[in-house]
Amino acid sequence: MQKSISLLGSTGSIGTQTLDVARKLGLRVTALSAHSNISLLESQCREFMPKLVCIGEEKYKEFKLAVSDLDIEIVCGDEGVLQIASEDESQTIVNAVLGMKGLLPTIAAASKGKRIAFANKETLVAGGKLVTDAVKQGNAVLLPVDSEHSAIFQCIQGGAAIKKILLTGSGGPFLNKNSEFLKTVTPEMAVRHPRWNMGKKISVDSASLMNKGLELIEAVHLFDVSPEMVEVVIHPQSIVHSLVEFEDNAIVAQLGMPDMRVCIQYAITYPDRKPSPAESLDLFGKELTFLKPDEKTFPLLALARRAIIKGGNIPAAMNGANEIAVALFLDNKISFTKLFELVIEATENACFIERPSVEDIIASDNAAREYVVSHI
Ligand code: MG
Repeated sequence: MQKSISLLGSTGSIGTQTLDVARKLGLRVTALSAHSNISLLESQCREFMPKLVCIGEEKYKEFKLAVSDLDIEIVCGDEGVLQIASEDESQTIVNAVLGMKGLLPTIAAASKGKRIAFANKETLVAGGKLVTDAVKQGNAVLLPVDSEHSAIFQCIQGGAAIKKILLTGSGGPFLNKNSEFLKTVTPEMAVRHPRWNMGKKISVDSASLMNKGLELIEAVHLFDVSPEMVEVVIHPQSIVHSLVEFEDNAIVAQLGMPDMRVCIQYAITYPDRKPSPAESLDLFGKELTFLKPDEKTFPLLALARRAIIKGGNIPAAMNGANEIAVALFLDNKISFTKLFELVIEATENACFIERPSVEDIIASDNAAREYVVSHI
């Protein structure tokens, strides 16, 4: 097992749960990065004493002053994040950055041959083959932290070829609601997830079912399967975290209480397992149900499937449009149903590039964001 880790996105939901795991496992944390929550980052520094820390540019001076009594090198901005991603002391990096800005750090960590515990689905959705190729070339390993992908990864440890992936999702807070209801949805309603306690962006994605669309694409890249081999199953109890069907029609599932610390820890300790702070699952009295997703009411899941079937830069455009549309929705600038419309339009309007470079991916992401902003 790895004895030290670095962590990108330390003040977010996955970041704080990663530090909880590090605390319980007694891991050394060599480097941290956060965007702007300097009070939490400061307390993390005082507890874990990393040697290198990155903060967003706007907060750099204030943060540097706050920790001036500590022996820590402070860096900032995109360059700083890259420094953390390629830092040499930790062979394991947990990437819990939110959104596309995790792309270049992921490629940097891959070129260093690191184990990348990966919780930054947007990067894999947008970068696709560029990311998986960088991982192969650098002799790095991408280990999923997303609960569904961690489950799939655990199910395939026997080594047999996958026939089909059954990707489960809770259905979000608006399961069984109709299109009329969705017109009335506010940001406060969308961020209240029934099962998982998560950041705002992923909560909105979960409410729109875009999260399941992003995860479908993530599964295609992580497990090298075709989009047709991934079926989304709505499972409101969030006990079965995903299933894999094999050639002989045997289906293997992974179950547990919804607690991200299990997935984070497994990505760090793999192939070992260690005791976890997560609660043990008591199956008695639990009813497990499985439903087909309502793709008519929630069209972004179908959009994601079309995007990955088309391939190239289209998933990057879709992801960029979605990131900005979610931010606008959370800021009360657009309605929940307008978010659907804009993401679909921006994706359909993207100019297709079959084999995009990193620059093409970033340009497609930007163009889709601009499309959304200019059509609100
Ligand atoms: Mg997930």
